[in-house]
Amino acid sequence: MNIHEFQAKALFEQYGVPVPKGASATTPEEVVNALAQLPEGPTMVKSQIHAGGRGKGTFTNGFKGGVKFCKTKHDAKEMSANMLGNTLVTIQTGPAGRKVQTVYFTVASDIKKEYYLAILLDRASSRPVIVASTEGGVEIEKVAHDSPEKIHKVVIDPAYGLADFQVRDLVFKLGLSGAEAKNAAKLIRNLYTMFWETDAAMVEVNPLITTPTGDVLALDAKVSFDSNALYRHPKIVALRDLNEEDPKEIEASKFSLNYIALDGKIACLVNGAGLAMSTMDIIQHFGGTPANFLDVGGGASKDQVVAAFKIILGDKNVKGILVNIFGGIMDCNVIATGIVEAAKETGLSLPLVVRLEGNNVAAGKATLAASGLKLVSGDTMADAAQKIVKLVA
Ligand code: GDP
Ligand code: MG
Repeated sequence: MNIHEFQAKALFEQYGVPVPKGASATTPEEVVNALAQLPEGPTMVKSQIHAGGRGKGTFTNGFKGGVKFCKTKHDAKEMSANMLGNTLVTIQTGPAGRKVQTVYFTVASDIKKEYYLAILLDRASSRPVIVASTEGGVEIEKVAHDSPEKIHKVVIDPAYGLADFQVRDLVFKLGLSGAEAKNAAKLIRNLYTMFWETDAAMVEVNPLITTPTGDVLALDAKVSFDSNALYRHPKIVALRDLNEEDPKEIEASKFSLNYIALDGKIACLVNGAGLAMSTMDIIQHFGGTPANFLDVGGGASKDQVVAAFKIILGDKNVKGILVNIFGGIMDCNVIATGIVEAAKETGLSLPLVVRLEGNNVAAGKATLAASGLKLVSGDTMADAAQKIVKLVA
């Protein structure tokens, strides 16, 4: 689960990670109140969307820059009108962009130097790792590609936690000394505590800055949490912004369906994550494109199947449906009944290929046959995939 920069910075403050003073707003009235909380002077106006690259982004109305420097609060107020309610496209949003529903104002900081700092889970070592670089503010992927020696990594043993010598070593590699080094060390330790205690999957600060007065501040903040640990953090769950999520995925989560929207044409309804992935692969193998990943689970009810069907039909790109069920625990007749009900409720007119196998398959096939539904049955996965690819072609 992702959160916005202004929410991440509020968490940073709770953990003693310094950030510039700021206030957020979702309406022109709130803009006035937010700015009233900040001192007069240079102010940053920052579009809040769950994607990076905002500074270099462009709004669909042609306005350039989702992060802007303003000399006065008055300018910041006017600037925010260019952002609120408009759609911002960045390298991370995809061409459709994201609608800016919140703007965040911060006191603009004087930057002495920009750094990069992130903490994430490293799959290779199965441990938390801190990644830091003196090349901040720019795309870190580019730095990693062009000058990998400028990327420093600290692997943390979760049993011992972050050791002081590791922090000192890292701060030294970043070329910091004196007050800057002391402040950076404290910030890194506090950020690690936050990462650990909130079950974060990733915390990224780009840029982390030093100021002419020796302060070290997090100027940007991107935080994502491990969804499997969210049950331990109700306060973090409360930060979830449904505006940033695909409505189809929200609907699916209400019915405990594992659904992920993709951009292809063939919707699939499958039981079991492994089978769902193989189904997507085989669609692709025969030249089709999957419109989603959908695992209805091993013990899906008829209502879940109906909900699943409605969700996949809510995707306008879908030109055909492939149902691929292997009934181990799943009763094939439950699936069949769900398909028939959903098809009737939605007036299904798209091509539908069904491959059912396993537990109570005869009853399932009988239900489908008796329904009068226009569908094609597939004998094997390959057969079913080829049939649906042909039908949508
Ligand atoms: P991003 O483009 O989504 O990564 O958004 P950032 O919050 O990182 O802002 C983009 C860039 O704007 C940063 O990399 C900084 O160079 C600049 N910036 C952000 N805040 C400030 C500030 O307070 N003062 C100054 N001088 N520049 C800032
Ligand atoms: Mg940034």
